[in-house]
Amino acid sequence: MSVAPGDRAAQAAALNLSFPSLDPAARLSALRAASPGRNVFTSSFGLEDQALTHLIAQSGLDIEFVTLDTGRLFPDAYDVWASTEQRYGVKIKAFYPRRVALEDWVSEHGINGFRDSSANRHACCGLRKIEPLARALAGADVWITGLRADQSQNRAGMDYVSFDAARGLIKANPLLDWSRQRAVNFAGSNDVPINALHAQGFLSIGCAPCTRAIAPGEDERAGRWWWEQSAETNDKECGLHVDADGKLARASGDQAVL
Ligand code: SF4
Repeated sequence: MSVAPGDRAAQAAALNLSFPSLDPAARLSALRAASPGRNVFTSSFGLEDQALTHLIAQSGLDIEFVTLDTGRLFPDAYDVWASTEQRYGVKIKAFYPRRVALEDWVSEHGINGFRDSSANRHACCGLRKIEPLARALAGADVWITGLRADQSQNRAGMDYVSFDAARGLIKANPLLDWSRQRAVNFAGSNDVPINALHAQGFLSIGCAPCTRAIAPGEDERAGRWWWEQSAETNDKECGLHVDADGKLARASGDQAVL
């Protein structure tokens, strides 16, 4: 029997209230217990994604591992992917862009056409990430991410758990209150596979042509789409994380989040 959206929203609000007093393992258990349907964890193999992978694998909970292979990832990302499957004995299901749509877009705009305008950049993210994500989450009840509040100003205003009305599911960020240092410490003390690029100044890692290392003092996500300088277009997000109304999530003020 399907649950009404209002009930799911109330369920998300109750989970959100409970999360601050729970440790991450208990948060995962609470999410799994709250929904009989598919729980999907989407990973891009970032530091906190890897910490969450460890926690999920250790928990034995029925949570699916999913990634979006844009076709433009660093070789190091594929190395972490393989290491993770080996380390934890899990399969991470990949979702790829629609071939024909991508071929058409590249034919029209060029292989690096995402650099020509913000619109092109968002279109490329739409083809390579957002559409595959929609397929990955189709029919899911819960979507779990590794977002942290202190990754950017945009993410600081997010909830632990919310109802994503656009996708009709509960979205959860169990490591929202973690600092980067906590994730570093956790990975180090638990032998968690991490991307070798982190040690070279790549703190937030996305597609290879859209990610650079950052300098000391720069925001963690400053190396993403760094050529976009306008405050309106340089939101440091690709569109995966929308608010309850299906709009780009926004923190306080007018900072767009993807
Ligand atoms: S991050 Fe860059 S290459 Fe990757 S999908 Fe977005 S625009 Fe395209």
